[in-house]
Amino acid sequence: MSAVVVVGAGIVGSSVAYHLARRGVPVTLLEQGPSPATGVTGDSFAWIGGAGGDWPGGAQDLREYVLADYQRLQNELPHITVRRTGSLSWASTQAEDSRPGPGQFRIGRSDIAALEPHLRHPPDQAIHIPSDAGVDPAALTHALVAAAVAHGATVLHNTAVTSLQVAGGRVEGVLTSTGFHAAATVVLAAGTRVPKLCEPLSADLAIAASPATLARVTAPPGLVKTIVAGPDFEVREVREGDFLLVVPHVEGTAALERSVQDAFQRMKAAFQGSDQCRLLGYHTGQRPMPAHGPVIGYATNDRSVYVAVMHSAITLAPTVGRLIADELVTGRPAPELRRCRLRTH
Ligand SMILES: Cc1cc2nc3c(=O)[nH]c(=O)nc-3n(C[C@H](O)[C@H](O)[C@H](O)COP(=O)(O)OP(=O)(O)OC[C@H]3O[C@@H](n4cnc5c(N)ncnc54)[C@H](O)[C@@H]3O)c2cc1C
Repeated sequence: MSAVVVVGAGIVGSSVAYHLARRGVPVTLLEQGPSPATGVTGDSFAWIGGAGGDWPGGAQDLREYVLADYQRLQNELPHITVRRTGSLSWASTQAEDSRPGPGQFRIGRSDIAALEPHLRHPPDQAIHIPSDAGVDPAALTHALVAAAVAHGATVLHNTAVTSLQVAGGRVEGVLTSTGFHAAATVVLAAGTRVPKLCEPLSADLAIAASPATLARVTAPPGLVKTIVAGPDFEVREVREGDFLLVVPHVEGTAALERSVQDAFQRMKAAFQGSDQCRLLGYHTGQRPMPAHGPVIGYATNDRSVYVAVMHSAITLAPTVGRLIADELVTGRPAPELRRCRLRTH
């Protein structure tokens, strides 16, 4: 197959580049930042859920493959770490608790205490999803990029794509801060920047940038054992002794600082032994949020530009990387992506 340029080394672009390279496609991955995962991927809570969560639009059709694709990826790249801890979720009142779906179990206080022995006040009930997992999103992205390179991909950092190069109505490559890169197909995996890059095309891309804030905390290893999503806090251990804490996002520096401190205090109040917790910092990422679920497919009739943008991309990346590579290599549309297509004029 002819050369593919992938724009953006977040989790999506890195997964696409890896899956293309391992199938022998000449691929160049261009990233504006100094290293992979400098976009929202590096700020992600990175909860991988096949059984819970929101699956808007065509994401619903990808759900059944998520856990198997993570297992496959681990078989292919044995050094990556997927923390299969399961998750525990509960609402502030039992009335708000959702009904357990397939793969989900309603459990009582003693089972919750067994799973989370440091929780000071286990709720009466929670939804337990044993199959839920989490990754270190930056480490996984770096591993995908390294594996793509091992399969022959070229990766250029500090290379910002400024525009698509259009000649005779066809996109022939990209113009970047460091020069022109020719491509038979350009894959746009630049997250929130994709609509801007697509401006010369008549593609209808309703993709919002949605801010979300994440704090990093050090604490005794194993303080939180599963992924805990209560009404007051959402927390998981990402590496031994390093925890990610979701912070309710508010606008304004002072208000956000208060929100971070409040979330940290709620976490400390919830767990025994949390006096050793230290807040390391926090960051707000801009999540690419397509209005109707994942947007994956060709943006031009001549197949010179392909778009891949979605929310919950940490969960979906191994699956969409595999399916996108398959479409580009075989030329056959993947039926699993049928409801993710762009509307073109
Ligand atoms: C607080 C928070 C919690 C989250 N929790 C979860 C979760 O639990 N589970 C889950 O699945 N998802 C979660 N997400 C969402 C998830 O992080 C995103 O869906 C995912 O990271 C998007 O990946 P991406 O590769 O599309 O975008 P990005 O990571 O933003 O990657 C795009 C890359 O393109 C580069 N780029 C942009 N423009 C250009 C250009 N012109 N030229 C070259 N390079 C360019 C950027 O530098 C960036 O590296 C969360 C997000 C946040 C912020």
